[in-house]
Amino acid sequence: MNLLIMGPPGAGKGTQAEVLVKELNIVHISTGDMFREAIKQGTEMGKKAKEYMDQGALVPDEVVIGMVKERLSQPDTKGGFLLDGFPRTVEQAGALDKTLASLDIKLDGVVNIVVPLDKLMARLTGRRVCKGCGASYHVIFNPPKAEGKCNTCGGELYQRTDDNEESVGTRLKAYQDKTQPLIDYYKGKGLLMDINGDQEIKKVLDEIVKALKK
Ligand SMILES: [Zn+2]
Repeated sequence: MNLLIMGPPGAGKGTQAEVLVKELNIVHISTGDMFREAIKQGTEMGKKAKEYMDQGALVPDEVVIGMVKERLSQPDTKGGFLLDGFPRTVEQAGALDKTLASLDIKLDGVVNIVVPLDKLMARLTGRRVCKGCGASYHVIFNPPKAEGKCNTCGGELYQRTDDNEESVGTRLKAYQDKTQPLIDYYKGKGLLMDINGDQEIKKVLDEIVKALKK
């Protein structure tokens, strides 16, 4: 099973990806890990990526694609993989298609975690941080014992500015604008599976497994 996973910030994509690769016994290829590994191992593309990063420059698409190709050429992906964090644009998706074709790999599906905007907003704006020790809480998922006070040091909890509604709204809108063409692209190929991410993790997983069997 060769899959992609995508989802907006706050959709719990990371958790879903972890559970899914365990369930399907496939390898998890997240772009961040892939970057770190390629640089650590000093692969051809890893070296190139490092040059850009050392200059504080953005790593160009062709190098990222090169790294994806190096990673997908490794034997542990033969039993299936879940690509996470790539592609982010239709251009990258087109390049990925070519790379997959050159490696004779077929993509089986694209898991798109969908969560209503108001739920994402509640999840992403709920974070509170302690002024004293920096401990992190969430008003819904991990509330402090006493409202507004840190469990450990009793310090005052505050909301970081990038967690306020306006910043979060901007972030979500940017994700949507950038991702919609990608969603349309995979829908057009008959690969897109919209999965309701607004339910328990176990149920999300069941829904994904069911969609994959179709
Ligand atoms: Zn504290």
